[in-house]
Amino acid sequence: MLVGQKERGIFINGEWRESYSGTYRTITNPATLEKLTEISYGGKEDALEAVEEAKAAFPLWSKKTARERSTFLYKAYEKMLEHKERLAQILTSEQGKPLSESRTEIESAASYLLWYAEEANRVYGEIIPSSKANRRSHVIPHAIGVIAAITPWNFPASMVTRKLGPSLAAGCTVVLKPASQTPLTAMEIVKIFEEVGLPKGVLNLVTGDARAVGEALTQSPDVRLITFTGSTEVGRELMKNSAQHIKKLSLELGGHAPIIIMDDAKLDVAVDLTLASKFRNCGQTCICANRVYVHKKIADSFVEKLVTKVKNMKIGNGNEESTVIGPMIDRNAVEKAAEHVEDAVKNGAAIASGGNEWDGDLAGYFYEPTVLVNVNDQMKVMNEETFGPVLPIDTFDSVEDVIEKANQLPYGLAAYVMTESTNHVFKLTEALEYGIIGVNDVFPATAEAPFGGIKESGFGKEGGKEGIHEFVEMKYVSIGITE
Ligand code: NAP
Repeated sequence: MLVGQKERGIFINGEWRESYSGTYRTITNPATLEKLTEISYGGKEDALEAVEEAKAAFPLWSKKTARERSTFLYKAYEKMLEHKERLAQILTSEQGKPLSESRTEIESAASYLLWYAEEANRVYGEIIPSSKANRRSHVIPHAIGVIAAITPWNFPASMVTRKLGPSLAAGCTVVLKPASQTPLTAMEIVKIFEEVGLPKGVLNLVTGDARAVGEALTQSPDVRLITFTGSTEVGRELMKNSAQHIKKLSLELGGHAPIIIMDDAKLDVAVDLTLASKFRNCGQTCICANRVYVHKKIADSFVEKLVTKVKNMKIGNGNEESTVIGPMIDRNAVEKAAEHVEDAVKNGAAIASGGNEWDGDLAGYFYEPTVLVNVNDQMKVMNEETFGPVLPIDTFDSVEDVIEKANQLPYGLAAYVMTESTNHVFKLTEALEYGIIGVNDVFPATAEAPFGGIKESGFGKEGGKEGIHEFVEMKYVSIGITE
């Protein structure tokens, strides 16, 4: 493990180096507050150099055959799985989630490399039957150019490969800026690409100050697309700043997912899936349940069963196999969860479980898994993304009523429905204004399906055949045939 040393967090044109400013940032373990390492921290100059090198590498990389590009992705996929345990440990140490979740994340991250190694070979153009005898109309796919990928701390591996897989497969070259709190996993992924011999300049990494690096990436006319995963607030800022050069954007933003539990749902399954959705990664998942709507007829038994299980969840250091609830990412995250609980209680909610910072034997950022009942639509927790282990439970008595409640926020990332009725499946999935809907399934993200939100949760897709098309432009070529 990388304990104690200084690390070069900047990789440009095949070289690991320090930042121009010489600045370093300390990376800590959020469970123990131990210092893991110090990472050189870049700024505008580093980002602009990375763009320049990515631009220089683009002609050769984009002209390689799809088969050649996919070979690098296959090799990186295999290496990632080969190093799964080590990568999972690094991920847990900097991000905090339980090791079992980190292992699953590394597998999932690798699966995006495999999927796009395959999809690289399936980006087709078109020949359109022409309306004129002496004209031929061709549509030719073309890699968009240099792209910038900006990723969050909550899934430090899979959010990176979900962008690297399709962009590299399409023939783009990349400047990656990972979250400042979790750069170590991203650095390991870049090292894997280095090991498999990816040509210099194709993938560049700039760990650094968000505002300075972000400004350089949005202001540069050479960056043709920004693919961003993070908060709606920062997504909005990137959109504004990208207007000058009419840059293409793909935005995977925040959410506020409802789970709707119909009276015909299998109760035990609904309880287990709700727990899995809410509390994985300590509630710090963009698609995790932020509010539950349970049918009045089954509400009491649902709450009773759920609370019994929540009280038995083991809180602790993610590196212990028995831990179910790890730390939150930082002090601000704990304070936000506490603020949502306080606001709910002040406005009439009752705490059915938890409701406090964890008083355990670790120095890190812990908050108890918390269940709130008697909630209403005015509370913060029902309107703002909590991004923590707090589960508010509301009730409803008609399908129409719950559809209205579920759709009333500006977010549209993921929603869930627990039901055994086909009628409910169709009524709800057709009416819910969300980009991803899980029916009796709370883990919908997978490499082969298009993942992405609508409304203020963003636009663009990651995963599926759609994911690679974000990085491809269709060039229309009209050919006149002369006599
Ligand atoms: P964030 O604060 O928006 O940061 C995300 C990334 O953007 C980080 O790399 C951050 O860098 C960078 N950033 C911050 N300000 C920037 C700026 N002005 N210009 C350019 N880059 C900037 O979000 P977060 O707290 O890391 O992640 C949590 C959010 O991500 C939640 O809202 C969650 O719902 C969302 N999310 C969405 C999805 C999805 O697929 N829709 C998936 C995961 C997470 P620093 O780390 O250096 O600040």
